[in-house]
Order: sequence, then C-alpha cells, then structure tokens
Amino acid sequence: MAGISIRGLSKSFSSRDSDVAAVADVDIEVKDNSFVTLLGPSGCGKTTTLRLIAGYITPDRGTIEIDGRPLSSPGSVVPPERRGMGMVFQNYAIWPHKNVFENVVFGLKIRKLPSASARRKVEEALALVNLSGLETRYPSELSGGQQQRVALARSLVVEPDILLLDEPLSNLDAKLRERMRLELKELQLRTGITFVYVTHDQAEALALSDQIAVMNLGRVQQYGTPFEVYAHPANRMVADFMGLVNLVPGKVRERSGAGGVVEIAPELTVKVDALDAFAPGETVEVAIRPESIRLAASPVPGGTWATISNHVFLGNISEYFATLASGLTLRVQTHPLQQLKVGEACTIEVDATHCSVFRAGAGEAKAA
Ligand code: ADP
Ligand code: MG
Repeated sequence: MAGISIRGLSKSFSSRDSDVAAVADVDIEVKDNSFVTLLGPSGCGKTTTLRLIAGYITPDRGTIEIDGRPLSSPGSVVPPERRGMGMVFQNYAIWPHKNVFENVVFGLKIRKLPSASARRKVEEALALVNLSGLETRYPSELSGGQQQRVALARSLVVEPDILLLDEPLSNLDAKLRERMRLELKELQLRTGITFVYVTHDQAEALALSDQIAVMNLGRVQQYGTPFEVYAHPANRMVADFMGLVNLVPGKVRERSGAGGVVEIAPELTVKVDALDAFAPGETVEVAIRPESIRLAASPVPGGTWATISNHVFLGNISEYFATLASGLTLRVQTHPLQQLKVGEACTIEVDATHCSVFRAGAGEAKAA
C-alpha cells in the first residue's frame, strides 16, 4: 500500500531581491497503485513538489503522509532513503563508466544483498524494461531510449512502493517518446507501484494518468481525471493549457434551468449546459474546443455564415480558421476528408456540451 496524502504543502525560495513561492498550498491525494501526473508550464513548481515528496527538501508549511505515516512537515523530514521511493530524472543520471548490470545493481549493493539474489533481481528489473541481454553494454553503446530504461531499471530494482519521475521522456525524439509512454503505463499497471510523474506535455499527461494535477504559479489549478481537466476545465489557464482552445469574450443572453445562451458575436450565440453561476447580461469568457465546432459547405438551419480564412492539413485532422462577418475568427478541427477552400463560404455550429464558461477577468488561482 502506498497512497500519498499531501496537505497545504508550501515552499518558498529566497534570493537576494525576491521570494519565490515555488509551491503554494498544494493539496493532492494520490491513491495507492495509481498514476498521478503533475502538469504545468516551466517554473510552475512541479520539480519542487516532487523533491518535497522525495524528502530532498523541507516544506515551509503543510504535510506529506504515506498511508497515514507522516513523512514531511516543517519540523521533521524522513530522509529520502527511508521513504521506499525511487526517482527517475530527465537526464537519466546513469554512470558512463559502469555497464548496464553495474548501474542497475548499485542500489542493491548499498543494501548489501547477497550477490546471487542481487543478480536475480537485476535480471527481473531488466526484463521489466525490455533490456534483457544488454547487461555488459556501456551507456555510450546504448540509444537514448535504452539509457532511460537503464535509469528506470535502476530505480525499480530496489522494489519501491512509489516511483517519482521528473520529465523522464523529454530527451527522446517524438516517436520514441510515444512508445515509451505506452511502456511506462504498462509498467505501472504490471508492477502496481504508485507513479508520480512530472511533465509539461499535456498529451503525455492525458495518455498516462489516472489523475492530473494541473499546476500554475505554484498552485494546483485543478485535480481531476484526464477527461475532467480536458472537458471541464476549472479556469481559463487549465482550458488553455490542456490543448487547443478558442477563448472568446461573450455575454449571457438567456438563462434557463442550469444552462442558457451566451452571445459571442452579434451573429453567433452558443447554448451552454452549465451556466448556474452566471446572470443574464453578465460578461464572460467562453472556451470552445476546435473539435466542438462543425463546418458545413451549405446553409444549415440555425447555423452561422462564415468564410474560411486559413486552412492547415495535419493528416489525421484538418484545421480551418473560420471568420464571421463581424470579424471573429474561430479555430475549427474537422475530419480530413472534409475539404473546404480558403475564401469559401460555410456555416458553423457550436456543440453546446463542450463549451466552458468563465467569469471575465477571473484568472487562475494566483501565487501567494
Ligand atoms: P518546474 O519543475 O515546474 O519547472 P520548479 O519546481 O523547478 O518548476 O521551480 C518553481 C519555481 O521555484 C521557479 O520559479 C524556480 O526558479 C524556483 N526555484 C526552484 N528551485 C529553486 C532553488 N533551489 N532556489 C531558488 N529558486 C528555486
Ligand atoms: Mg522541473
């Protein structure tokens, strides 16, 4: 069992001219045997949070517990080696002068394990990451992906309850990154180890995670499943960070039940399912995903006329920029077989269930 409970976690760094709230009031519940990702732009506090979990640094405020056992609080910190955690870094951090076996066996040697069982455990760890047979190779004789697997095997060999991974795929090319993604997910499922994963890549977070903590300015903006953070972003920062989105100003025109109608241009209103928090006349911001807008070459009842102002063919999808007569341009993604030309007239329709509405000017949770 290794569920992690993080409550009110805060850490500031002081430099000569300023204080940076690197992590501010972070609450995260990580379930045992789950894959949780800390996602956010560079500098938002992901690595600091991971280092706090690992025990390399002491929090200013807040606590970290594993299965009810306190690990970190401002007054006391259990040292990293007594936490049952492994850590994997972006730069692999493997020894160039040691071969694969020597790199992986290191943690067992420190624990003074008899060499026969150490050898067996190394073999098991290498098999887990598909490196069997490469025991005598040196890092210089391995590809980037294989080096990252050595780093993984080295942290798995000591059988941690929790694995902390800080942007482990960032140094790999796109194709390999995608393959390693699938392997990491499989590894987590197979071993039952709790993974806490850090990345700035939203696609990676969506593909891997049971839960995602979207962070900005040291704070968790939203903690939810991949579907929740993508389809129901808590604020404009999350909407914007979780993929492509049209963020347009609007005005609430009608309210009925939980939903209502928002005008985003004189000739375009969108129906919204969740509008409880807003009153008629209120100025809002509407987030519309490009795949929630439909285009048609001929007039559609209830549709709005627009002109195709730009087109990008991306292979699996086609991306269009549709400009309304009033000047508003919306990014639209369609099936690649739908082919419209720049300058052509079309009608657009917006799918109500995929719009999120935010109070205008209300940004994300701010740093302390
Ligand atoms: P991320 O991993 O999301 O890119 P970090 O956790 O590394 O972000 O950093 C969060 C903020 O804290 C940044 O503004 C960074 O400059 C600052 N920071 C991190 N570590 C230190 C440190 N040891 N000393 C001073 N500032 C730091
Ligand atoms: Mg970092």
